[in-house]
Amino acid sequence: MKYKSPFAAYISVAFYNNPRRREDWLKSEFVFDVDAKDMPIRSCNCENVCKTCLNEALEFVQELVDSLNDDLGLSNIHIVYSGRGYHIRILDKDIMETSSELRGELVKYVTGANIPKNSISLGYTNLFNKRVKRNILHLTGHEKIEGINPKLMKDTIKNSYFLNDNQWGSFQGRIGPIRYKNLLNAMARVNLTAVDAKVSIDLKRILRLPSSLHSKVSMKCVEVKNPETFDPFKEAVPKFINERK
Ligand SMILES: [Zn+2]
Repeated sequence: MKYKSPFAAYISVAFYNNPRRREDWLKSEFVFDVDAKDMPIRSCNCENVCKTCLNEALEFVQELVDSLNDDLGLSNIHIVYSGRGYHIRILDKDIMETSSELRGELVKYVTGANIPKNSISLGYTNLFNKRVKRNILHLTGHEKIEGINPKLMKDTIKNSYFLNDNQWGSFQGRIGPIRYKNLLNAMARVNLTAVDAKVSIDLKRILRLPSSLHSKVSMKCVEVKNPETFDPFKEAVPKFINERK
């Protein structure tokens, strides 16, 4: 790579018996792609990516990882800063042999893209409520979300304080049953767009290679060892830029 100096470097999520010819597929990593710029709800109104939306993307990634761990029992999970967002790369043996279809279902589950069948806050319902709570508490009022008109947006934000203490009943009472249903439907659709599902169901995807440079943003793609303290503006800035300062 030093000799050829490629513009960008990628690595496949797939394992093959014959990797050179990409033949005889064995298994693939399960991936979640979260691009900070494409987050449907973010506090900043920046044009590209900034500290705020990268932080929010990482928080969201940590929530996904918690659910992958607690709800799906996965443990071989790696977070990679991609340059404009984050990849979650999962290498648990059983998950690596699953089909696109199953991966699609798991993405819907983990992001909270299905409306729960009951309101008891256990299992999936609990996960869904967490995702919706997060969305609502991050609303700025400027978002254009299909199914949420300006009045519903205003009332949702006005009553969002109920959700700090998980008072869903009181929140629903203020919004009204029909509008509450509309709100949940809209949030389920929003949840699915927070990740690029096309990447998750693709068994032969290539992803930016950790340690290589994202030349459009001059940031390094790096594994996030500690998401609690990770700061891309310290850990993903290429050395030669640091040295010039
Ligand atoms: Zn931003």
